[in-house]
Amino acid sequence: MSQENKPTDFIRQIVEQDIRSGKNQGRVVTRFPPEPNGYLHIGHAKSICLNFGIAADYGGMCNLRFDDTNPETEETEFVEAIKDDVRWLGFQWDGDVKYASDIFDRLYEFAVQLIRAGKAYVCDLNAEEVGKYRGPWNEPGRDSPYRNRSVEENLDLFERMKNGEFPDGSRTLRAKIDMASSNMNLRDPAMYRIRHAHHHRTGNKWCIYPTYDWTHGQNDSLEGITHSICTLEFEQHRPLYDWFIENLGIHHPQQIEFARLNLTNTVMSKRRLLELVKGGYVAGWDDPRMPTIVGLRRRGYTPEAIRNFCARIGVTKANSVTDFGVLEQEIREHLNRIATRVMAVLEPLKVVIENYLEGQFEQREFVNNPEDPASGTRQVPFGRELYIERSDFMENPPKGYFRLVPGGEVRLRYAYFLKCREVIKDPQSGEIIELRCTYDPETSGGKAPDGRKVKGTIHWVSAAHAVDAEVRLYDHLLLDPPEKAPEDRDWKADLNPNSLVVIRGAKLEPSLAAAKLEDRYQFERLGYFCLDQSTAPGRLVFNRTVTLKDSWAKEQKKNS
Ligand code: ATP
Ligand code: MG
Repeated sequence: MSQENKPTDFIRQIVEQDIRSGKNQGRVVTRFPPEPNGYLHIGHAKSICLNFGIAADYGGMCNLRFDDTNPETEETEFVEAIKDDVRWLGFQWDGDVKYASDIFDRLYEFAVQLIRAGKAYVCDLNAEEVGKYRGPWNEPGRDSPYRNRSVEENLDLFERMKNGEFPDGSRTLRAKIDMASSNMNLRDPAMYRIRHAHHHRTGNKWCIYPTYDWTHGQNDSLEGITHSICTLEFEQHRPLYDWFIENLGIHHPQQIEFARLNLTNTVMSKRRLLELVKGGYVAGWDDPRMPTIVGLRRRGYTPEAIRNFCARIGVTKANSVTDFGVLEQEIREHLNRIATRVMAVLEPLKVVIENYLEGQFEQREFVNNPEDPASGTRQVPFGRELYIERSDFMENPPKGYFRLVPGGEVRLRYAYFLKCREVIKDPQSGEIIELRCTYDPETSGGKAPDGRKVKGTIHWVSAAHAVDAEVRLYDHLLLDPPEKAPEDRDWKADLNPNSLVVIRGAKLEPSLAAAKLEDRYQFERLGYFCLDQSTAPGRLVFNRTVTLKDSWAKEQKKNS
């Protein structure tokens, strides 16, 4: 991937310093370690760009490792989806995909090593009792009555835990560190729990499972990770990871913490995303309103835009909330460069041009993308009957309305001046059903030879050639009270009831009948769109990726 401006941040500075000082013989090895309990979201993209990006920038390696220590919640479906997402974002891990469960045997041996050294013990307290003994953070805890078991007894009990002799939750293996530590993570944390559960990779081999805290650092160490990059909430776990590694005497990766990405108007944690899916608030993990990678992808986001977004927000140690608009601006900028400009009418109103011959058509030449001269032009049919946007005509316009009005004149994009002569209404409902208009054949170039001006330019589609489509417009998943961070409130009360608007009966220019999933379009004046994967023969469905914001208003000004 090309990187015009190599990013710099405090983590890259640490990496550069380590390379200069010869630490790890100058090697750089990072990893992205998701738990396969859901689909990846835009927050994970930040971590992916950081870990894979650093490896790429410094000639290092980056592993993809699944933290599958929790047998109940992990699913193979998520493993495959996560691999797809990483590749789609434009990254490739080094070597085979790795799993925490690959080292379950090694971890068991390490645990035995710590027991032999008198640094781990089997504890018979249940979860509630453990909590009581641990105490509150501002008071020292109390030692477990099982803390001083002999090495022999511990070895025997631990082996019998492994062999399935004890029921779930009846015993744990705990590290023997310091029940009075001001860091709660050091108050004899659990290393193993008994859980007679099937694991997606190891099957029924194990009925004791290592905790995340007991797994993570050893995993990094065994993979030769040099820079173990994680989010801030693990800062308080670092002394524990260091303790394990030092007491085992194995390679010591350096953990570096950064602030996780938070975005307005959405939720990010997988647990909450799962609630949205399970509760039917969205159509699935890939619903285009979801902040998941699959959702953004279906919505029409590009990997480039997501990578640029991650580069723009940078990496810091301070927690903050990024405005969703920052992400939207990145996709807008990318789509502006690559999207083909086309015409689509979402709420059609029929126009009949009375002085244009019936049955006659002509081809108008359209610029495919003014930002990309190589994209060329295409022919768009024009004829006597057109569709225009209902909102581009007003019978009783307010001041400052520059589009079509009775007796008024506008420019049809890439075609002629059009004048409204008569408004036809449904005699029953009074609804406007058709406009009878005339065009000025002298204005083919978009200008009148007599120098008269029109203020508005509107888009149109030839009625005889238009293709029908369903168009889906999206808005934020959550209405976001700006003063509250999205993660700390009753977020379901803030669900936006208008986050999806489905428009049936849109009329599109004929070229869109051949649209492919990877094509990107700007529907002029309406936003950026792409085909939705639910499209089927005879049924076109488009998603709006993002609106144009005010760029059309600016263009209007330029043209008039
Ligand atoms: P979630 O709360 O969404 O489940 P998690 O941290 O539990 O997040 P993991 O699968 O453990 O999810 O995350 C894999 C990696 O992605 C971790 O290194 C984690 O730090 C990072 N990550 C997760 N969420 C974010 C975020 N919002 N911003 C940056 N990095 C993140
Ligand atoms: Mg997690």
